[in-house]
Amino acid sequence: MPIATINPANGKTEQTFEEISDQEVERILARAADTFRSYRTTSFAERGAWMVRAGEILEDEVDRIAAMMTTEMGKTLAAAKAEVLKCAKACRYFAEHAEAFLVDEPADADAVGAMSARSRWQPLGPVLAVMPWNFPLWQAMRFAAPALMAGNVGLLKHASNVPQTAVFMQELFDRAGFPEGTFQTLLISASRVEAVIRDDRVVAVTLTGSGPAGSSVASIAGDVVKKSVLELGGSDPFVVMPSADLARAAAVATTARCLNNGQSCIAAKRFIAHVDVADEFERRFVEHMSAQRLGDPMDATTDIGPLASAQQQQDMVDLVADAVSKGATVLCGGEVPEGPGYYYPPTVLTGITPEMRIHTEEAFGPVATLYRVADIDAAIELANATEFGLGSNAWTQDPVEQARFEADLEAGMVFINGNTTSFNELPFGGIKSSGYGRELTAHGIREFCNLKSVWIGP
Ligand code: NAP
Repeated sequence: MPIATINPANGKTEQTFEEISDQEVERILARAADTFRSYRTTSFAERGAWMVRAGEILEDEVDRIAAMMTTEMGKTLAAAKAEVLKCAKACRYFAEHAEAFLVDEPADADAVGAMSARSRWQPLGPVLAVMPWNFPLWQAMRFAAPALMAGNVGLLKHASNVPQTAVFMQELFDRAGFPEGTFQTLLISASRVEAVIRDDRVVAVTLTGSGPAGSSVASIAGDVVKKSVLELGGSDPFVVMPSADLARAAAVATTARCLNNGQSCIAAKRFIAHVDVADEFERRFVEHMSAQRLGDPMDATTDIGPLASAQQQQDMVDLVADAVSKGATVLCGGEVPEGPGYYYPPTVLTGITPEMRIHTEEAFGPVATLYRVADIDAAIELANATEFGLGSNAWTQDPVEQARFEADLEAGMVFINGNTTSFNELPFGGIKSSGYGRELTAHGIREFCNLKSVWIGP
């Protein structure tokens, strides 16, 4: 895949980048190791001041950065601005909380026969982040802000279609005042990630992306016994029970499916309605989905921009064609509009059967599947009948049902009467084929730390 900005709104190549040489990779890794030796001894106050400055730069330059992201991967300008500001908030959050998250934990000295005993969190070293294009700034920041605040140094291999954002990430931390080499971008293709993971100076790796990429990266990391965190795909269920506020559920269902032009790991993808309210939910949901305005992502009136690449568009065409050929009904959408750009309209399919690919595969575009179930047991069984376990959503006012969903949905996150969202204050991550490890909160910052037990005798 070329390392290039190809504007998905019109298919034009805006800028191409040369891959860096092996010698340059070597220089970057040497610099990372060298920087870590001193950076690890900096105080939380110093790191925090640089991190806050990074957040200020994001806020000051939100319009320019957002336009760059929209040009690279097609999200609407409004969504891009919100993403930049969310990153600024994460900078502040981890600047403020890192020290408390990593405070020493006292142990019972008598019980272990010591004069004093405790555990302390220490940074690991240079950590490689392999990141996807769908939230090009947020995914990278969700790794970088906690990792850097913990005293690690970061290396970013970003998706090949968002090179400007990749280069900007390094610039951002340099300009914010972090010592040179604290955060560096590697403009390399996926095939060269293995050598970086195997390099002795790299201590751990995190990947956000598809299952095959995650599996490959984790296998290599396992081979050389290095820590890995994986944030992979999802096919989140969205269950609607009879007591749900149907008007709100249908509106939020549309946002949950169409957010980021439908390209979100935590987008709700499978909609499961109780038979008693299925007709009404379907009517409202299809009405909302049909009303979404597809168009130029730079235009403030647009709800949904293009998909990020020709491949993403083709994937949606193929998934829908497969389902229709096996008997699915298209309730809205399903046709690629005329004209340039990688557009795909909000689409709702019903009459889904297990032999259709979309029943089991992740639809990474605004295509929803709608199912009907007789009761809560059937709803939970269908919701869990997937290899994925990232987010999950259930709509019900009944506290007993809420407790059932909370306990029995197989997912890293469950949202009742809302759609799955990432917050600095809630752990983010999945189970099953959606990956392992957690981002954000104290749990996220500790993923790339050594929890060292300290025992001091008399
Ligand atoms: P992808 O193809 O896996 O790419 C993600 C990153 O991995 C890119 O930087 C890519 O580089 C690199 N990569 C690809 N194959 C690799 C390999 N064999 N070894 C090492 N690196 C490799 O994923 P995508 O299609 O861009 O992103 C969509 C997927 O990401 C969806 O499944 C989505 O659900 C998931 N996702 C998950 C989360 C989460 O938090 N759980 C968040 C966002 C997205 P190149 O671009 O150079 O190929």
